[in-house]
Amino acid sequence: MKKYSSLKSSHFAHEKKNLSRRELIKILGSGALSYGLFGASSFASTNAAAHIVIVGGGIGGAASAKYMRLLNADVKITIIEPNPQFIFCPGSNEIIPGWATIEEYTVTYTTLKERYHVNVIHDKAEHINFSKKQLKLDGGDTLQYDKLIVSPGPTYFYEGIEGYNQQLAEGDFPAAWHTGPQTINLRNQLLSMKKGGHAIISVPADPYRCPPAPYERASFITTMLKKINPGAKVTILDAKNSFIFDNIFPVYWKKHFGYGTDNSMLEWISKDKGGEVVKLDAKDHAVITADGTVHKGDVINIIPPEKAAAFALKNDLADGDWCPVNFKDFSSTKHKDIYVIGDSVAGDPMPKTGFLASNEARVVVQAINDELHGREVGTPFLINGCVAMAGLDFGMTLSETFRYQGKGMPLAERYFIPEPTDSPQKQLVLANMARNWQRTFRKDIFS
Ligand SMILES: Cc1cc2nc3c(=O)[nH]c(=O)nc-3n(C[C@H](O)[C@H](O)[C@H](O)COP(=O)(O)OP(=O)(O)OC[C@H]3O[C@@H](n4cnc5c(N)ncnc54)[C@H](O)[C@@H]3O)c2cc1C
Repeated sequence: MKKYSSLKSSHFAHEKKNLSRRELIKILGSGALSYGLFGASSFASTNAAAHIVIVGGGIGGAASAKYMRLLNADVKITIIEPNPQFIFCPGSNEIIPGWATIEEYTVTYTTLKERYHVNVIHDKAEHINFSKKQLKLDGGDTLQYDKLIVSPGPTYFYEGIEGYNQQLAEGDFPAAWHTGPQTINLRNQLLSMKKGGHAIISVPADPYRCPPAPYERASFITTMLKKINPGAKVTILDAKNSFIFDNIFPVYWKKHFGYGTDNSMLEWISKDKGGEVVKLDAKDHAVITADGTVHKGDVINIIPPEKAAAFALKNDLADGDWCPVNFKDFSSTKHKDIYVIGDSVAGDPMPKTGFLASNEARVVVQAINDELHGREVGTPFLINGCVAMAGLDFGMTLSETFRYQGKGMPLAERYFIPEPTDSPQKQLVLANMARNWQRTFRKDIFS
């Protein structure tokens, strides 16, 4: 077994000489102090030996690393992430009509490594030995952890749709539910779709990551086709009877696509009206819904159902499909010193969003830091600000709060969705808010 301390990394130079409070303030600016980023006694009694290991260098994992460092200059922080780059999903629907490029959503780990002195190991986490507090990696190394934060995102459960699988998603039937080659493939298929062709978007039942994103995608695709292929049709086949912002998207759809008329370019079919896709017939390029209707499509985008990440499932962190946690600190209810955040969590009523994953990260690192300093762990209050767009000039937002109600109880949710408005200026402001939030968010987590 290779011990953590024997792993070779240029960052070990930094680890040997932990950042002093003065050095950290120099790097982060005095604003860090005025925003209360340093716990009152963080530096008074640091537990320098503590090793915080994080599985997954996506939104939840990267936010955990950055905010852990802002709270505590002395702990060792290691992220395990197989990919050398991370590609953000928030805002990525814009890549499909060509309003943005994949490069704009791609970040590296350089700042986390160099500015925040986080050790990043590009490998896959495999197995947790709970009694020894060890994490085995695919490459053969074993790390000793004091606290393990798990944020590996979801598993896309392609097989939840009969006849569908990962290979088909990577080929003719892209899911494109994590930004990457499938997103580009979906764009290219739409660009080359035959004149007057039919594009189908299949939406799963809850919960899945980013509830409004399928409808945003449908809007963007229809806008794109209206320009380059005006006779085309887009159908959303839905495994639900309602969706978030279903009072707002149709306002845009009616105005621009004739939604609700016989000539509408865009149609939404709810579960009750036979919209739930249960099967893919890859040979005939068709999907079949629960009522047996066959829908032929020239482009078929199946957003698959989801479960907790494979890592969480095989390491006994889940009950059924998702990982139960204590909402006070997001510690696993199943194993000690393990914290699960992000899309893998059984978080109902919290939706699966990057906004929440990053706020859950803040709750966890504050709790860990408090524990390391012998302080009582506080009571969390989480917020989610969900944004979406129907077009570049038409945005929408939702504000949500989640209050801790006590051990074993779900979080109490309150939310506010503004009514749709006739004011084009207001819709434009909301679209700009959405885009700006996404940009700022991408910056915040990785810089
Ligand atoms: C089209 C789309 C649009 C979206 N828009 C928004 C939006 O506007 N706002 C918003 O808040 N959210 C949005 N989201 C949702 C958001 O992307 C997710 O909720 C968020 O990424 C969840 O964070 P996470 O840390 O759980 O997972 P991720 O960010 O996916 O990170 C998981 C990481 O774990 C790694 N990993 C997996 N298994 C292992 C393993 N065994 N070992 C090591 N590493 C592993 C993966 O490689 C990955 O890098 C959107 C999602 C989609 C699909």
